[in-house]
Amino acid sequence: IKRLLQESEARFRALVTLSSDWFWEQDAEFRFIEVDNHLLVNSRLAYATILGTRRWDQPGLNLSEAQWDQHRAVLQQHQEFRDFEVQRSNNDGSSYWISISGTPIFNAMGQFCGYRGIGKDISKRKQVEEELRIAAIAFESQEGVLVTNEQFEILRSNRAFSRMTGYSAKEVLGQTLDILKSGRHEEAFFDTIRHQLHTIGDWKGEVWNRCKNGDVCLYYMTTTGVIHVDGRLRHYVTTLVDITQKEAAAKEIEHLAFYDALTQLPNRRLLMDRMQQAFAACLRNGRQGALLCLDLDHSKNLNDALGHDMGDVLLQQVAQRLKCCVREDDTVARFGGDEFLVLLEDLGTHAGDAAEQTQQMGEKILSALNQPYQLGSHTAHSTPSIGAVLFNNQTHNLDELVKYADLAMYAAKAEGRNTIRFFDPMMQAAVSARIALENDLRRALAEQQFQLYYQVQMKNGNTAIGAEALIRWHHPERGMVSPLQFIGLAEETGLILPMGLWVLQTACEQLRRWQQNPRTADLQLAVNVSARQFRQPNFTEQVCAVLQQTGARPDRLKLELTESMALDNVEDTIAKMTALRKLGLGFSLDDFGTGQSSLSYLTRLPLDQLKIDQSFVRNIGIQHTDALIVQTLIGMAHSLGINVIAEGVETEAQQAFLQQHGCTLCQGYLFSRPVPLDEFERLL
Ligand code: C2E
Ligand code: MG
Ligand code: MG
Repeated sequence: IKRLLQESEARFRALVTLSSDWFWEQDAEFRFIEVDNHLLVNSRLAYATILGTRRWDQPGLNLSEAQWDQHRAVLQQHQEFRDFEVQRSNNDGSSYWISISGTPIFNAMGQFCGYRGIGKDISKRKQVEEELRIAAIAFESQEGVLVTNEQFEILRSNRAFSRMTGYSAKEVLGQTLDILKSGRHEEAFFDTIRHQLHTIGDWKGEVWNRCKNGDVCLYYMTTTGVIHVDGRLRHYVTTLVDITQKEAAAKEIEHLAFYDALTQLPNRRLLMDRMQQAFAACLRNGRQGALLCLDLDHSKNLNDALGHDMGDVLLQQVAQRLKCCVREDDTVARFGGDEFLVLLEDLGTHAGDAAEQTQQMGEKILSALNQPYQLGSHTAHSTPSIGAVLFNNQTHNLDELVKYADLAMYAAKAEGRNTIRFFDPMMQAAVSARIALENDLRRALAEQQFQLYYQVQMKNGNTAIGAEALIRWHHPERGMVSPLQFIGLAEETGLILPMGLWVLQTACEQLRRWQQNPRTADLQLAVNVSARQFRQPNFTEQVCAVLQQTGARPDRLKLELTESMALDNVEDTIAKMTALRKLGLGFSLDDFGTGQSSLSYLTRLPLDQLKIDQSFVRNIGIQHTDALIVQTLIGMAHSLGINVIAEGVETEAQQAFLQQHGCTLCQGYLFSRPVPLDEFERLL
C-alpha cells in the first residue's frame, strides 16, 4: 500500500510540475498548510508568509468585502468551488490574475478537515478578454477611434482614424495624443480636458487637429474613460468626427446672412452691427468716425441700356474699387440697389480733422468711381453722389445716422451729382420739421382738419363744366399747409390711404348733392389719386363701394393719375382703368408732359383726357419751345382721339393761345383759384 501511495504521489507531483497550475491545501480553519511552488514563483511571496494565513489575509488581492463574504459562505458550507477569480497586485505595480478551484476534505469519520485544490494563472486570458472588451466598444464605430492608456498613449486606432488623419495604426502606436495637436489651442485647453477626464470621466467638444499632411481640421471629439472590471479607470476611448465640412456650411450660412451675394460686401445687417461697435469704440476712445452714403447717378439708364447682367457687373466693379479706396479697418457695405455705405473709423478726436479726412476719402472715391468701367465689350461711365455725416461719442441712433447720410446724398444729387455733400444742421432742421409734420398728419384726419377746395374747369372760357377737388389742411398752428408739403409724406407713411379715401368720399357726396339740382347736375369732379392709393389691390372695389354708398353717378367722376404712377405697372393700371371705365368713370392724365415716359406706353392706357402741365402753360408767350410743346401735346391728344385740358391758365393770352390751337378746356387762376365749396357754388 505504501508503495502504491508513493507511486501515486510521484505521479501527482509529476503532473503538477508539468502543469502550470499549482496545488494548495488548507486546514479546517482555512489556513494554508501546503502551497505549491508555482504560486510562490508567480506571487514572489515567501513560502513562510503564506503558510498559516488565510486567503483573505494575504496582501494584494483585489476583491471587495462583499465578494470575500460570498466566498467565505461557500467555504463555511463546505461546498466545492470552481474558477474563483482573484486579481493580485505585486509590490512593483504589476499584477496578475489567478483562478482557484477547491474541494472540501473529510476524514474517515466524515469530519471536515480543510480544503484542497488548484490554482492557475489566468492573466493571459484576462488580458485577451479585456482587449476584446475595449475592441468591442471601440471598433463598432464608423468614426475615427483611438484607444489610449491613462497616459494618453495610443494603444489602438481604427481604420476610420487612419482615413481621417492619414496616420496608419502603426505610426501612432505608442505615440501620445499630442501627435494630433494643431497649435490652435492653448495648453490650458488641454488642461481642462484632462481635468474633466479625471473628475467626470469623459469629455466632448470641438478640437482642431492636424492631419499627417499638415491640414488642420475641426473634429468633434469625445473621450470616455473605460472602467476596468476592478473599478479602476485604465483606458480612454476617443472618437473623432470630422466636422470641418459642417463648420464650413455654418460659415456659409453666416456669410449669406451678413454679406451681399452679388458683391460679397457686408450687408445692411453687418454694417449696422459694425456701426454699433464703432459707436462703442467712439465712446471709449473719443475718436470720431464718419458714414458715407453713395448712390450711382443715373444707374437706371445704364441698366436699361446695357441690361441687368451688365448692371450687376458694374456694381461688382464699384464694390471692388470702393474696397481699394478704404483702409482695412473701414467697412464698405451694400445696402441694396446701387446704394453703398462706407463706415470710416478712427478719424481722430477733432471734428475738423475728421471732416477733412472724410472729404479726402470722398474725393478719392469720386475719382476712383469716375474711371471708365469695362463691362464685357462695353466701356461705361458712371458717377456717384456721396453724402457724408460725422459721428462722435454724442451720437446714439444708428438709423438716424443712416438717414442723415442718405439726406446728404440727396443733397449731393440735387447739387448736380458726382459730388460729395455733408449733412448739416439745416438738413437736420428739415428732418425734424418733417418728423413733426408727420406726427401732426396722423392726427389731422381724426380731428377733421382736412377740407376740399374746388377749382373750376371751363370750356371755351365761358362755361363751367366742373371742378378739380384739391385737398387743404387747416393746421391748428401753422394755418393752411399746402398739399405739396404733405402729400409726399402721406405717401411715404401710408397715411395717404385713409386720406385718399376721405377725399373720394367727400367728392362723391358732393357730386350726389349736385346731381339733385338741375343747375349743377352735369358738373364733373376731378379727384387726384396717388400712386400708393391706386396700387392697392382692392382699389377698384373701394371706388365702387364709395359710389354705391354715396349714390354719385360714375360718369360725373374723373380720376387724375400721373404718368409715372400709371406706367409703373402698365398691366395693372390698364386692368383697373378698364374695370372702372366700364362703370362710366373717366380718367385724366395729370401733369402731362413732365414725365419722361415712352409715348408708346401712354397710348396703351384707356385715357379720356390729357392734362397739360402748368409749367408749359406758364411759358406760353415767353418761351417759344414751351409753346411748341403745348401745341404738340394738344396735337397728340387729338390724334389719340381724347380730349385735352390745360392747367395753370393765368392770363387771357394763354387762354387765347390754347383755344386757338384746339384746347378748349382750361383750369387756372384766370377763372378761379381753388376755393371752398360755398364760394365755388356762388361763383357758378
Ligand atoms: P395738381 O393735381 O396738378 O393740382 C394743380 C395744382 O395747381 C393745385 O395746387 C392748384 O392750386 C394749382 N393751380 C391751379 N391753377 C393754378 C394757376 O393758375 N396758377 C398756379 N400757379 N397754380 C395753379 P395744390 O392745390 O397746391 O395741389 C398741389 C398738388 O397736390 C396737386 O397738383 C396734386 O398733385 C396734389 N393734391 C392736391 N389735392 C390732392 C388730393 O386730394 N389727393 C391727392 N392724391 N393729391 C392731391
Ligand atoms: Mg390734379
Ligand atoms: Mg397737375
